[in-house]
Amino acid sequence: MKSLVWFRNDLRVADNSSLQKACQGDSVIAVYCIDPALFETGPYGFRKMEKYRAKFLLQTLGDLKKNLALLNISLLIYPRKAKDVIPDLIKKYEVDHVCLQKEWTRDELKELSEVREKCSENIEFIETYDQFLFHPEDIPFKNISDLPDIFTQFRKQCEKYARVRECLDIPEAKGPENILTESTPIPELKDLGFSPFEPHPHTAFPFQGGENTALARIEEYFWETKKLAYYKKTRNGLLGKDYSSKLSPWLANGSISARTIYREVKRFEKEIKKNQDTYWLIFELIWRDYFKYVSLKYGDSIFQLGGILKKDYSWNNSETARTSWINGTTSEPFVNANMIELAKTGWMSNRGRQNVASFWAKELKQDWRIGASYFEAMLIDYDVHSNWGNWMYNSGVGNDPRDRKFNIPRQAGMYDPQGKFQNRWLQPSLF
Ligand code: FAD
Repeated sequence: MKSLVWFRNDLRVADNSSLQKACQGDSVIAVYCIDPALFETGPYGFRKMEKYRAKFLLQTLGDLKKNLALLNISLLIYPRKAKDVIPDLIKKYEVDHVCLQKEWTRDELKELSEVREKCSENIEFIETYDQFLFHPEDIPFKNISDLPDIFTQFRKQCEKYARVRECLDIPEAKGPENILTESTPIPELKDLGFSPFEPHPHTAFPFQGGENTALARIEEYFWETKKLAYYKKTRNGLLGKDYSSKLSPWLANGSISARTIYREVKRFEKEIKKNQDTYWLIFELIWRDYFKYVSLKYGDSIFQLGGILKKDYSWNNSETARTSWINGTTSEPFVNANMIELAKTGWMSNRGRQNVASFWAKELKQDWRIGASYFEAMLIDYDVHSNWGNWMYNSGVGNDPRDRKFNIPRQAGMYDPQGKFQNRWLQPSLF
């Protein structure tokens, strides 16, 4: 039995269901395709992926290739569309089945159906949900249509009735005969149309991509500095790498699983300390799950102007507003500092994201999807569900039962009382 693991947003060897399943066969090959369409300009004027996430992805692939090599599995990487690569590989290597993480959003569904169309009907595609904390079979809602539209109801039910599955071990190594004679280089940034660059000296995310660096971050944040024990008190911070876990970029491309983080929190609670702060990291992971379930329930509505509520608000689309928001030259210094941080580093804190989104959608009343698309391009941790779900939430077309609008000067006063964050990013020398 020959298996092909088609890696997508599950770029890890530990706790990876598709890899586990594939390794039950006699021989395994692994493939990752970087769709060139990610770098074309989309309907809102942005590419889907800008340089920050592109670099992080290439670093992640480097790590994955090394980790798979330890299992005698070759990872082939192509900067091409999956449909132009995978069907040919299936034929060439006489693959019987393809193992992959199950996705349900528009682009991912299209990508899979294009591949399937070009494959013989005998090829089995084994799809597995592997991105959740609470597996869809374990949540206490019979049908996805029963999913509550209010987070707290979802969280309480899951905390009471669902349990997080155990992590899967790294599979046993295959024999050396499994290694392919063929190999592909890891693309460089310039192959994707970007110039090489160094991280900004003030970035709050000074980390590299990859499964090994994700584990190193847990080691640092949980075990060495024990910052996890203060997480709830610091999570609204704005400066430096330790006010929050910074695990989102690794979670987004699957170089670490939510289950692995959960298990590490539980181990920390047992061995070091259990408090509100340690619980709160799990609470946030449940938010992450929630937005995945929202998109599972509502499908493409998460990309539509009226959102999941089908609200008929009137929205503007002003080029001037867009330019000043992106460049950080609006009337609000706190918004500007956050937007400049994003442009310079690919990172923005959760507090910042909430404020700039609220300002864009509720103050300027601009089409919220433009803001979401800009975030999609720029964020190092872009995740389709979290991004579009949070944007809907902050724009009044999603799951916020209170439909709040942020008072930006008040927020700046509360979270940046001495203006340290604003001073950092608003210094003229940075331009
Ligand atoms: P921590 O505070 O350490 O939280 C731990 C983990 O919990 C995070 O890594 C993340 O996986 C999850 N989490 C925390 N807050 C949220 C949240 N509000 N929604 C969903 N999951 C959450 N997060 C993304 O991962 N990708 C995105 O594209 C994204 N876009 C966003 C857009 C807007 C407008 C807003 C308001 C929020 C967005 N978030 C997104 C959520 C949140 O801002 C980030 O997950 C968080 O800032 C990442 O930092 P951290 O890993 O240090 O988080």
